[in-house]
Amino acid sequence: MTLNLDPRQRAMLAEMGVRVWLPDAPAPEESTPAHVPAAAHAQATTLAKPIDRALPTAAQALEPVMTQLKAVQGVSDMDWQTLQTSVAQCHACGLCQTRKNTVFGTAASDVTQPTPVDWMVVGEVPGAAEDAQAQPFVGEAGQLLDNMLRACGLSRKPENGQGSVFITQVLKCSTPGNRNPNPEELAQCVPYLHRQIELLQPKMIVVMGRFAANALLQASVPDVQTLPLGKLRGQVHRFNQVPVVVTYHPAYVMRNLPEKAKVWADLCLAMAHLSAT
Ligand code: SF4
Repeated sequence: MTLNLDPRQRAMLAEMGVRVWLPDAPAPEESTPAHVPAAAHAQATTLAKPIDRALPTAAQALEPVMTQLKAVQGVSDMDWQTLQTSVAQCHACGLCQTRKNTVFGTAASDVTQPTPVDWMVVGEVPGAAEDAQAQPFVGEAGQLLDNMLRACGLSRKPENGQGSVFITQVLKCSTPGNRNPNPEELAQCVPYLHRQIELLQPKMIVVMGRFAANALLQASVPDVQTLPLGKLRGQVHRFNQVPVVVTYHPAYVMRNLPEKAKVWADLCLAMAHLSAT
């Protein structure tokens, strides 16, 4: 993965209102805050109202999750197809009663055998549109994510030398009224995400949002539940040896446009880390 963006990628970023972190700028070190480019200046008036999901309180966070991660039996031994079937038929928590579809991850239905991917992006909870389409990150937030990933040389459906990215979410079912997931729902569902990571062996994981960070960093960042998301940014964490970069959720960025530049800085950190290893 290189940081040398071609003119088309730069134009794409300019169109998104993201200033490019120049490739000859010094790469951020691990444990060093990432350089944050100047604020983007896209027009808020052109954007639809995003999902309004409040940050969880510490009490809502995942303290009970680690002790309950074995709740879904046999997940750690499942192959890819069994995992997909298990998610599609899952009734392990009450969300099975209100979902239309489960949302396993991008292009999951086309894949019978997983092949290792370059990046994995982990979001939070499927919204109504994602529930309807059985795909993660659809709509304007998904478009923003796709554009940024394309600028990094990645695609959900890679072609012409693009890197591969598998996009999924912490919960595989939507929540009623788009509410925050509760600890029990997360405890039941997070093992699916962990198994997806084991099978896909990504070179880099980008987690977007509080619940995604909590689900993957509890072992390596003991106070992850209480740290603001901003404090988790700007460094490379680990989940079972896989590098993890934390950033804001695109839905949050859609209503806080200056944060778009921070997301781009975080993606640059991920690219720089992979270039250096
Ligand atoms: S949210 Fe996860 S654990 Fe709950 S029913 Fe859906 S797939 Fe199963």
